[in-house]
Amino acid sequence: MLELIFLGSGSRGNATLIRWDQTRLLIDCGFTARELNRRLAAFGEHLDRVQAICITHEHSDHVGGLRGLGQREDLQIFGTSGTLPALRLGKRSEAEKVPIQPGRSFRVGPLEVMAFSTSHDAIDPVGYRITLPDGRHLGLATDLGIPNDEAVEALSGCELIGIESNHDPDMLEHGPYPWILKRRIRSNKGHLSNPTTAALLPRIAGDRLEQLFAMHLSETNNKPELARQALQKSLDRLGLKTGLRIIDQHQASSYGRGSGQMKLL
Ligand SMILES: [Zn+2]
Ligand SMILES: [Zn+2]
Repeated sequence: MLELIFLGSGSRGNATLIRWDQTRLLIDCGFTARELNRRLAAFGEHLDRVQAICITHEHSDHVGGLRGLGQREDLQIFGTSGTLPALRLGKRSEAEKVPIQPGRSFRVGPLEVMAFSTSHDAIDPVGYRITLPDGRHLGLATDLGIPNDEAVEALSGCELIGIESNHDPDMLEHGPYPWILKRRIRSNKGHLSNPTTAALLPRIAGDRLEQLFAMHLSETNNKPELARQALQKSLDRLGLKTGLRIIDQHQASSYGRGSGQMKLL
């Protein structure tokens, strides 16, 4: 049975654990190992039990924890051939780096995983589409400046979608960031705004969509209620009764196993 554990998402760190029976797959490792273990402990988990980590891109909010993993011969770290050389594993780590290609699937236990290219200012960034043993599909895409064809195709028809809803355009415009950073965020290789993500939903959200997760919200340039309003309006227009959850930067939460939401205190 699936349990998705969102350990946190945003510019201060990203990591999502996919748990299926004895399989533990982590998407990104953007918190220190210590912090990850603190968050995992609330769900009875520990990094030592993770068999594989799929990396989306080399920005520190996605890979910052790799250095602290320690000696793990049985751990596989998957990433594109552009991303892998940019990763800094700790000196003691013997984790195996496994190069992957967008569009080609590979397996982590019973999970079938496929990376797809995204448009972002990193060397070779990707999102992931995972086919679960029960036939459902999970698509995860954070950090994308525009919804490129590969991302749209990979996310379309997924039952579970985690997608970035990074900023509110007005808050970004009038916010404290220097203009050069504002320009970067708005660019085709930056981050999706609430209205851009809302406008994308008609292209990716089908009748099978069960749950939408809004991820990588900016703490400076967005508010959870603004992201929720924009995305809910779009779902309503499509006539979809999909669940919508905003993923938090600081509080971990889980989905699946009928447990509803569990939060850290
Ligand atoms: Zn990021
Ligand atoms: Zn990034």
